Amino acid sequence: MVEMLNKTEDYGVERKVLLFSPSEALKAFCVDFLSQEKITAWVLEKLHSAGPHCPSCNIKITDQNTFNNFYVLRRCKCKSCNAWFSAFKGTALHHAGLGVSEIFLIAILSEMKVEAKTIAGVLKCHADTVKLWQSKFRAVEE
Ligand SMILES: [Zn+2]
Repeated sequence: MVEMLNKTEDYGVERKVLLFSPSEALKAFCVDFLSQEKITAWVLEKLHSAGPHCPSCNIKITDQNTFNNFYVLRRCKCKSCNAWFSAFKGTALHHAGLGVSEIFLIAILSEMKVEAKTIAGVLKCHADTVKLWQSKFRAVEE
């Protein structure tokens, strides 16, 4: 009887501190936990701080349709020179092999001094890929 009471009390204590384990959280974590929309918007603002321009003729994109397509990473056609392009054309993210969220994650985890091997584990990619991006980011900061 006394034992049962103790068990109930123990259960009560556990209920107050409901939490998850950090190692389980890391195991479960992947880029889908992040807002791709928010990351894309932030990255495009950094890459095109002067607003969208055609990478071929450098004209400013004013057409609303093309403008919208630009910011959701769809293909755009320049009304002036007819060139096809996307917001990543002419940037390091063009044909990058990794998605914008993965690249963003490499940036912030590297900044937090997480080892390339650990980042590669989270992204399920090769550590050499992470190291390649780390060297590209270093070049930006130099
Ligand atoms: Zn153009």
